[in-house]
Amino acid sequence: MPRAGGLRWSGGCSHVPWRVEFHSCNLPFVGVLRFSYGTMGSGKSTLALQIHHNLSTRGLRGLLCTHLDREGAQVSSRLGVAATAVDVGPKLDLFALAQQQVDHHGTLHYLVCDEAQFYAPEQADQLARVVDEFGTDVHALGLLTDFRGRLFPATARFLEVADERCELQVEARCWCGSRATHNARMVDGVQVYEGETVVIGDVEALGDAQPAEVSYELLCRRHWIAGETGRLDDATERALSSH
Ligand SMILES: [Zn+2]
Repeated sequence: MPRAGGLRWSGGCSHVPWRVEFHSCNLPFVGVLRFSYGTMGSGKSTLALQIHHNLSTRGLRGLLCTHLDREGAQVSSRLGVAATAVDVGPKLDLFALAQQQVDHHGTLHYLVCDEAQFYAPEQADQLARVVDEFGTDVHALGLLTDFRGRLFPATARFLEVADERCELQVEARCWCGSRATHNARMVDGVQVYEGETVVIGDVEALGDAQPAEVSYELLCRRHWIAGETGRLDDATERALSSH
C-alpha cells in the first residue's frame, strides 16, 4: 500500500475509508464492501465523488462506476460537481473489470459504485469477490427502496453481502417537515404505486397515449401511503394563481 506522509492507508482496520490512519494492528490489509444507502437528495453522488477524489489524489488506484446517472456515463451531483465514470451495464462483469485493472496496474485499491440500486444483483456478488480476492475497498452507494416502497433487487443483495451497511445522515424532508423516507413516483402529477422499476429519461409511454411526465417526490411514510404529495393539482394551482 502507498504511504502518505508517514501515515498508512488502512483498508481493514479503519471504518472511515477516506481517513488516513496509523496502521495499528497486525492483521493483513483486507478490503471492505460498504453499502451506503439513503433517499434521493441524501448526497450519495456527492459522497461518491468526494471518496473518489480523496483516494485518487492520494495516489490510490481505483475506478468510479455508475449506472443510469441522470447525466449518462458520469457521476453527477445535484450540487453541480461531476466526473466521468464507468457505466455499469447489466452485462458488465465487475470481477473481470477489476481483474483487468489488477493485471494492468498490479493493484486495485478501491471501487466507488454510485447508483448501485440499478446494478444487477449478481454484480453485488461480483463486487464481494473483488473485495475478497484483491483486497479492494468497495464503496457502493444506492437507494434503499423504489417508488413502490420495495427494496431494489440489487439493494437487497448489497445488504445481504456487505461487510458494512451505513445509512447516510444527510436527511431529506417531506413537504410536511417530517423526515422523508420514501420516493414517490408522480405520473402527470399523480402518485402511482405500480409500473416499471426504472423509467429512463423521466418520460413514460402509457399505451397509445402521449408520453406522461414522470417525476419523483420525497415523502414521509404517512404521506407516501396516503398519496398526499406537496404538489398542487392543476385546478388548485390555477385557482391560487388567479388571486
Ligand atoms: Zn409528510
